[in-house]
Amino acid sequence: RVKELGKNNFQFYTPDMNEAVTRKMQMEIGLRKALERKEFRVYYQPQIDVNTGHVIGTEALIRWEHPEWGHMSPADFIPLAEETGLIIPIGEWVLNEACRQNKEWQTQGYPPLRMAVNMSSRQFKQSNLIDTVSNALDLSGLEPQYLELELTESIIQDSKYAITTMQKLKDMGIFLSIDDFGTGYSSLNYLKHFPIDSLKIDQSFTRNMFENTKDAALIHTIITMAHNLELKVIAEGVETEEQLQFLLQRQCNEAQGYLFSRPIPAKEMTGMIKKQYTYGDKII
Ligand code: C2E
Ligand code: MG
Ligand code: MG
Ligand code: MG
Repeated sequence: RVKELGKNNFQFYTPDMNEAVTRKMQMEIGLRKALERKEFRVYYQPQIDVNTGHVIGTEALIRWEHPEWGHMSPADFIPLAEETGLIIPIGEWVLNEACRQNKEWQTQGYPPLRMAVNMSSRQFKQSNLIDTVSNALDLSGLEPQYLELELTESIIQDSKYAITTMQKLKDMGIFLSIDDFGTGYSSLNYLKHFPIDSLKIDQSFTRNMFENTKDAALIHTIITMAHNLELKVIAEGVETEEQLQFLLQRQCNEAQGYLFSRPIPAKEMTGMIKKQYTYGDKII
């Protein structure tokens, strides 16, 4: 009986487990080929200066167009890319492409934007990070102040290394921000040691600002604290006019979210920049 039960259990679990393992393996094989097969795209999401309504920057967000599996969002493959180390070449590709695109907009005559690129902690810990970043700037001809690197609180685990590396990037003239701010476990103490320029309020706070008074209070607190530390603040995940008004009243500097635009291909983003360039203030 025990044997039977064990057998049943075994049979009950195996197909599922096999399927999951197989899927992961296929995904890894796919990921390994995706770069040379040119299956990745970079989408861009505008960042708005809430006081002027102008697009002042854009965040580069990777997409994977698989010939069979279709459109894959970063949540589907970034964790595996991090686990396998493939995030290193993939991240380098995004960085190069985003810098190139940003320079292209400048060359076309549009006012310069800041290009924000996400950096996973694995990339940040690469010993040749500084070379990779300066190479991207050299290749594209982009001035460093128009590149922003988004780091997460998780890089702070090794704070000595983090400070040294961030300082090198800062000395190069690059804009540094902390992404998903408020969701990590780190102590606030690091904020005074890190040479950062801006905090990105995580979208979970924005989403719940009217449902949960504590989220509203936290947003207010983050903005005040950031300003006291002479940091800029950008709110992520802004979807409604009400949320924007709340942020405006509390002197948030910038906002990003579906209210303005979803992440879009470069061509569409060009359209958005062009509209602003032509019509001045009239973008939102
Ligand atoms: P993130 O850096 O926090 O990026 C913001 C995410 O929020 C994006 O999801 C964006 O599409 C989404 N978003 C923007 N506005 C709104 C809104 O108003 N409402 C809602 N519900 N969502 C909004 P996405 O593009 O799926 O990317 C997810 C995460 O994947 C990113 O979070 C980032 O951590 C990671 N990621 C994306 N591209 C890269 C990359 O090139 N390298 C690395 N290392 N990570 C990346
Ligand atoms: Mg980000
Ligand atoms: Mg991020
Ligand atoms: Mg974020």
